[in-house]
Order: sequence, then C-alpha cells, then structure tokens
Amino acid sequence: MLPAADTDTATGSAPARPATPDAISLILAQAGRSAEEIAALATLDDADRSAEGQFSGEPPTLTSLFGKARATEFDAGRFSPSPTVAATMAAVLEFLIERKRAGTLLDNRLMLLHAGTIAGLARLGFFGLAIPEAYGGHGARLGDLGPLLRALTLVHPDLAVMFEVHNFLGPVTPLLDFGTEQQKRHFLPRMARGELLGSFALTEPGVGADPSRLSLSARRDGDQWLVSGVKWPITNVVYGGICILVLKLEGENLPQGRDSAMLVFEVPQADDARFRMVRNRLNAFDYLWNARFRMTDCPVPIGNLLGPPGKGLAQAFSSLAKGRGGICVNSAVKIFRLLAQLIQDPEAAAETVPATGGPRGWIGFRHTFGKPIGEAPRIRTWVGRATAEALAARCLGDVCFRLAANGIRDETMGMIAKVYSTRALLQTAIHAYQIQGGRSVHVDERRLAARDGHPLPADAYAIENYIGENIHEFAIATVYEGPNPVLADVGAPNAMTRGIRAKYLEPIGLAEAKGHFGWAPKLGFAWYVAANVLGSLHPWPGSVEGIRNPLPWRQRLIRRAFRRNRILGRRILLVIARYQKSFIDESFLLGDEGGVFDCLCASVASLVYAIATDRSEPEYQLVGESLDLEAQLLLAHRSVTPHLQRRFADIGRAVMTPGNVLHRDLVADIHASPIPLDPRSIDRFI
Ligand SMILES: Cc1cc2nc3c(=O)[nH]c(=O)nc-3n(C[C@H](O)[C@H](O)[C@H](O)COP(=O)(O)OP(=O)(O)OC[C@H]3O[C@@H](n4cnc5c(N)ncnc54)[C@H](O)[C@@H]3O)c2cc1C
Repeated sequence: MLPAADTDTATGSAPARPATPDAISLILAQAGRSAEEIAALATLDDADRSAEGQFSGEPPTLTSLFGKARATEFDAGRFSPSPTVAATMAAVLEFLIERKRAGTLLDNRLMLLHAGTIAGLARLGFFGLAIPEAYGGHGARLGDLGPLLRALTLVHPDLAVMFEVHNFLGPVTPLLDFGTEQQKRHFLPRMARGELLGSFALTEPGVGADPSRLSLSARRDGDQWLVSGVKWPITNVVYGGICILVLKLEGENLPQGRDSAMLVFEVPQADDARFRMVRNRLNAFDYLWNARFRMTDCPVPIGNLLGPPGKGLAQAFSSLAKGRGGICVNSAVKIFRLLAQLIQDPEAAAETVPATGGPRGWIGFRHTFGKPIGEAPRIRTWVGRATAEALAARCLGDVCFRLAANGIRDETMGMIAKVYSTRALLQTAIHAYQIQGGRSVHVDERRLAARDGHPLPADAYAIENYIGENIHEFAIATVYEGPNPVLADVGAPNAMTRGIRAKYLEPIGLAEAKGHFGWAPKLGFAWYVAANVLGSLHPWPGSVEGIRNPLPWRQRLIRRAFRRNRILGRRILLVIARYQKSFIDESFLLGDEGGVFDCLCASVASLVYAIATDRSEPEYQLVGESLDLEAQLLLAHRSVTPHLQRRFADIGRAVMTPGNVLHRDLVADIHASPIPLDPRSIDRFI
C-alpha cells in the first residue's frame, strides 16, 4: 500500500481555496444568475484556471486572435520517434496486420479484442509506448503518436481508442502529471507490461456534459477511502485493470464545488458485495469493454489519492486537453476509410486495379442517367469537401499533440480540432450513407452473426454493410470527450475570454460590487479594445518566418488566416463590450452555428493545413485554396458559392481518379469492405 500523497506539494498547485465568495461568483450573481448556475460555472471556472497552471507558454490560437501570431507556433513538426519507439511501433503494426489477416484480431464470441491480441501487444511493449523508460516503457513523445494512432485506426478503430484511454485520458497521463514518485513506481511499470489496462471515469448517470456536480464520493476511514456511487459509461474498465476515478471528497472540510479529487482504483478481479459491474451493449466501440459500475463503501488505499484534494476536475480537464489530438486523428482516418468504401472496388484484387481511368468502386460502376454516379457534380463536391476537411483535421490533430508535447495548453485549439473533425466525420458519414442509397439500411448479417456467437463460414455470402453498420460510431464522436455544442457554446467562449475576464471584467465587477464606478479597469478595457480594433486593421498581423518550404501560396494563405483571426478577435471584444457582465449569456454569438467559433474553426483549419502542407502538387494547393475560401465566406456570413463548389468538385474528381496524387496518397491503400448486396453479383445472395 502507498503512503498518503503530500497533498499540497504533489503538483506544485496551490492548496484549495477557502470558502469565501470569489470574483467569478460575485460577478455571476450581479449578472442575475441563479445560485445553482453560479455554483456550476464557478466550479468549472476554478477547475479550468487550475488546469491552466499545469502548462506554460502562450496558446498560439489566442495570440492569433488578439496579438501578433507566428506561423511556426502552429507547426506540428516532423515525425521523429527514437529508434526504439519506431521499432516498437513497426513490430506492433506488423503483428496486428498479421492477426487481422489470419482472422484472430477479434474475439467474435466475446465481442472483445482477442485475448491473444492483447497478450501479444503486451509482449511487444505496446502498452508502455507512451510511458517513460524510467518506469519500464519506451518513452514515446506525445508529438510522435499521431501516425501510430492513424495506423491503429485503420487496422481497427477500437485499438486506437484503447490506446488513447490507457494513455491520455486514462491513468498514464494523470499519473505522470500529478502522481508522486512512489505512485509512478507502483503503477506505471505494471501498466507498461500490460498487466494493468487503464481507464478513466468522470461521467455518471446524472453527470455528463456538465461535470460540476459529481455524486461518486469518498470519505476517509483509517488508512483507506470508502467510495460509494455509480459511474457510467466507462470504456476499457476491465476487471483487474486500473481506473482513474474523478469524485468528490466528503468530510475533508473543502468548500462545496471545490471538493473534487482523483483516486487511482485497482478494479477487482470479480464482482463482490462492494463492487458490481455490468457491461453496456453499445452501437459503437463494438470490441471494447464499456461498462457501468456501482461502488458501495468500496475501499481504496489512502495513498491512491492522485494530486491534491480539491483538484480532481482541474486534473481531469488537463488530461482531456492533452488527449484531444487523438479523436481528431481518428476522425480524419475514418473519413478516408468512408471515402475508400465508395471509391475502391472490394471485389478487385489490388494487382488488377488499373493505375488510371475512373473509380472502380460503387461510385464508378453504379450508373444513373447514363453516367457513373461519381460523375454527378453534387457527389463530386461532397467527396471533395470531405477530402479537404479530413486533410485539415489530420493537421489539427498533429498540432494538438505537438502543443501538448511542448507543454502548451491551447484549449481553444483542442476544442476547434475536436468539433471540426467530428463534425466533418458526421457529415461525411451522412453523405456516404446517401451515396450508397437504399443498401445503407441493410442489416450487416456477418456482424450480427458474430455478435450472436454464431460466426459464419468465411465463404458464406452474408451481407456486410460498413457504412450503415457504423453510423452510430461516426455520429457519437460528436458527443464523447465533450459534446460539440457544449464545447462550441460554453467551453470555447470561456477559453477564448478567460484572460480578458480575469484582467478587465472581474476588476470591473468587483469595483461595482463595492459601489464604485471602476474607472481604472474600465479605462484599461476601453484602451485594450481600441488597440485591438486598430490591430485588426493591420494588413500583416502575423509572421510567416521560419516555415519549411515557404511556397508563395502557403505564405499567402497563412497571412489571410492571421488576418481573419484578428477580425474574429475584434468581434469577440465587441460582443464583450456590448453585453458587459451578461456577455456569457450571449455566448452563442461566439459559439456554433455561424458564430465566431464556427468561423474560427474554418479559419484555423485552413491555417494549420497551409502551414503543414509543404507538397508542391497543384492538387494540394487546390485543397488549401478551397479551405481558405470556405473560411473567407463564413467570415463574410455567406454560404457556399458555385465557385467553391466547383473547387470541391475538382478535388472530388482527383481523389476518385486512380493515378492521381490525392487518390494514391489518401485512399489507394485502404481496403474496402464488400458492398451490401453487390448488384454485380446478386445471384450469390438469392
Ligand atoms: C461510446 C462512449 C464512450 C464513453 N466513454 C467514457 C469514458 O471512458 N469515461 C467517461 O468518463 N465518460 C465516457 N463517456 C461519456 C461521455 O463523455 C458523455 O456521454 C458526454 O460527456 C456527454 O454526457 P451525457 O451523455 O450525459 O450528455 P448530457 O449531459 O445528458 O447532455 C445531452 C446533450 O445535451 C446537449 N447540451 C447539454 N448542455 C448543453 C449546452 N449548455 N448547450 C448546448 N447543448 C447542450 C449536448 O448535445 C449533449 O450531448 C462515453 C460516452 C460514449 C458515448
């Protein structure tokens, strides 16, 4: 058993604040908020500010809104793992591809990754890839994990999710960031060997998008915590594994709302009187264990408290921020996989697919009105737009990882990346569903048989349906790790304005609460707004110095994005100036549905693409120009123009054409599943 953590010094964070009303609560009260709202918002604000303390450096997205940005700060850099990490990644992928080929990757009877797959991965060091060598791992840097996640998603998306949950959300990141040396030595080597699989439990039946009112609670009892309550729906919380519990402490004399904590919980090997777990049957994460569990005075050693009391939510937010790149990288891969499903012919052996000509898959052989449906302008446009957005999403994911690896918490960038990429995935899935037509609704008989524990013989012609079967999987990414509307309308407006609120609005609010006019802070704010409005008119608001291969089109697009961001910064300040204390009620003006955040998503996507893409082929430039035009139109509150649609259609045609660089780079190597009830071989099915 571990000794109790040194609560105030474990992370260098300040001890929990006393129960006096703070600035944010006072201001919210003045703005007419209810006590319940104040409690929730103040709790989350406090957690956010504490989480910020875990990072250093200026978030470049905020600099680009309110100051002089530098392109190099948005650069994801080159993939440069150490030789050991590269060798481990290669061995892991070879092993997985081999098992997939042999049909032993998954256990269809249990609907889990096969025990042999997990054992093999453990042997190869997969679970220790992101754990430092000092604790028995391989020490991969966060910035190098994007390519591995891409490859894992292509082999099977659940492998990437398991890796992310084990490392970023799950125990590795919080243990490294907040654990004592003893805690690290106690848990990490076993995690690296794959003996303890990790999970992370924040959500509860009554606590989801707003985690400020946790009900799972722990109270001290001698040398242990007794934990009671329910968590749901927790991914990878396997028996005998390890789970980070985010809960509230009782009896510790902490102010309400500042009483959260993290405990490391070693999940029992089986249910008992104090712990009971039930697996959830989900329409997503098919081969992962996802469960709800109840703890009833369940004992956890006192030394398993991770970080100081009162900081559980802050630490959870900090881990979430570090892992945001993952969901973005996965979404981009899933978009390319969906496109391959439409473009590639699953019936054709690779060597028989000609290097040129039109697409051979569904959109090539399916004709309507005398033409392949892939030639219909609307379908080309959909495919082209999905391609452009997936390329941008991939860059966003890599930038998120790189920033986190460099110790920079760019919360706004994380939310942009998550919302942009999962929205693009959902849109692509809906379009792919439509492009495949009535077949999309067919039951996937092969998967159904596997789920029921009666796998079909390999040569049986059962209907498969990749797009329809996975539609929940594509849609639900907009919900987990922060629902998109909540990130857009609550999280991002908060993150974008936190500095301004702390520096100007809170002093104004406090002065007014004391009955003063608040001349000094008001003048300070007026000066700040005026300087920013002037700054937003500058024709060169940022620097492109230092970017690799500075092709003229890239420099032009980067500068245009910087200019857009300054205009968006100006809009944010004008909303704040207009609505003052109640501006947060108007946060939708900054949020989704064409507000500032929506424009910012498109602008930053175009920016990071232009910075990351040093390819000289005209197709890659066309993608950059299209993303830029899309962002420009959104900024001007204009919908898509025929000019932009034509550009997307040209990209669509390129990615559908075997031999074209976009086709070769993005979809040629992706294997498509059979088309449901393939009309070319209908006799097989009747
Ligand atoms: C497959 C899967 C795996 C998961 N794995 C884990 C895990 O491992 N660990 C874990 O802790 N959690 C996990 N979750 C939980 C997930 O993070 C939550 O589902 C998510 O946070 C949303 O919570 P909720 O479903 O309770 O939504 P609710 O809080 O009930 O909200 C419902 C919806 O209302 C909308 N909404 C709410 N508030 C606002 C607002 N202010 N403005 C606009 N719209 C709003 C949003 O669209 C939201 O989706 C998982 C979920 C899924 C689906």
